[in-house]
Amino acid sequence: MKSCQIVLTAFWAATVASFPAFAGNEEQNLIETVVEAYGGKALTNLARLEFTDHTKRLNFGQSTSPTLVDIGHYQASVFVDFENSRKSWRSASWSGDGRYTQNQFFDGTTGYSVNHSKQTYSKENSLSFASADRRLSYTLDTILARMLYDSSDDATLSGQEELNGEVHQKISFQANGHPPLTLFVHGETGRISMATRPHWMEGEVHTYRFDNHQRVGDLLYAGDTYVYNRSEPRTVTVSRTVSLEPDDQGLFDIPATYEQEGQGLDFSEMTVKEIAQGVYIAGQDWGFSLFVDEGDYFTAAGGYDRFPERIAAVQSLTGTQKPVRYFVISHHHMDHIGGVRELDQLGATFILHPDHLATVERALGRQLDEEERMLVPGADHSFGRVRLIDIPSGHSRHNLGTYVRDERVMFTADMFFSRQQEGGIRASAALLAALQLIGLKPDTFVAAHSSRPLTYKHLEQAVASAPDDVCPPSWLLCERQ
Ligand SMILES: [Zn+2]
Repeated sequence: MKSCQIVLTAFWAATVASFPAFAGNEEQNLIETVVEAYGGKALTNLARLEFTDHTKRLNFGQSTSPTLVDIGHYQASVFVDFENSRKSWRSASWSGDGRYTQNQFFDGTTGYSVNHSKQTYSKENSLSFASADRRLSYTLDTILARMLYDSSDDATLSGQEELNGEVHQKISFQANGHPPLTLFVHGETGRISMATRPHWMEGEVHTYRFDNHQRVGDLLYAGDTYVYNRSEPRTVTVSRTVSLEPDDQGLFDIPATYEQEGQGLDFSEMTVKEIAQGVYIAGQDWGFSLFVDEGDYFTAAGGYDRFPERIAAVQSLTGTQKPVRYFVISHHHMDHIGGVRELDQLGATFILHPDHLATVERALGRQLDEEERMLVPGADHSFGRVRLIDIPSGHSRHNLGTYVRDERVMFTADMFFSRQQEGGIRASAALLAALQLIGLKPDTFVAAHSSRPLTYKHLEQAVASAPDDVCPPSWLLCERQ
């Protein structure tokens, strides 16, 4: 017993001695408790770690049908090299279409995404040590504890909250390149029971709840994590493994035979272009809208949030104050109806498929009168310069494409786009099939996720050359569990 105490004392001295001294006293005490709970020096000196999760993922707000939530199987491995600021993310997901693998990494200086099915790669300027894992590291409380320790100088206490009937201390911090994070720490055990970070919808959060704590070596981790988007469940852990001496072989290398795809397009600034007579595409980041000049007003499509900035950009380019009178809702997915309240304030009439009305009204927080909406139940509907074409797919049971008849321009959402200067085209076979069915060959395509113009030939080529999913032989991830 006595020798045990001596060991503990020596351990404590080592932990405390290595602790940064800039946080306030209360913050520092809580951070010390967290560090001790998660393994002391085993946490603060941790050089690298890998975790692999098998999860069930629920697609609230992004399912094929507006009335039934899709549930899919998702597996991912995240390798974190704290010493050299490197991170690798690999994933495999399963849906009705079969397996889909993805891979990206940050090697300490540069980010890459790798497509093993096409044997291509591209440099990704937007990737950093913080973002290379698609924010998956927040699902492992051990990494949050380490981030808290590394951000000690910035951490502030933000009150108390009862969780599971027990008092928790809230501590908030923002590490370099990360969003602000708030951890809910059990005051006595130092365990992190919950974490939150802001959602893109104002006032909403992503929530991570941690349960079933276990140890690997001296390191503590939650065996189960439950993730919520806003208040809806997002992922449920089926199994998790954590490795302290992971092998990095091949994780930060690209096979010599792989070809480089074109550089990513820079969409960080608002841009607006006239792509055909009286037809404009405006947008920034992931959200673009089409504007069709109808004389006294615009008909528009592309419902991401921050719509007022896009109409302002078009009005500034054209030197007019023409309003948006009609707005086409492509489909019911949460991101594509993010701007409906803004559009409502602009007084636009919504044009939409009847199946999407309930979702749009929920997002608006009110019911639409008949004169405020135009329902398009058929597969094909024309008004003004515009023809609407319903393109059903596994992505969304209904999805309205907006076609400008006189200029042969088509705008689609989540079906056909590239965010790279060359190549990198994502195309849906359902779009090609729908166009073939009605004998329509648009000259130019633009999309809700990219203003890069593509052609009908691009669509045909991309659909014809879509490869089967390929999993690198060294990955253990592609075997579904
Ligand atoms: Zn979608």
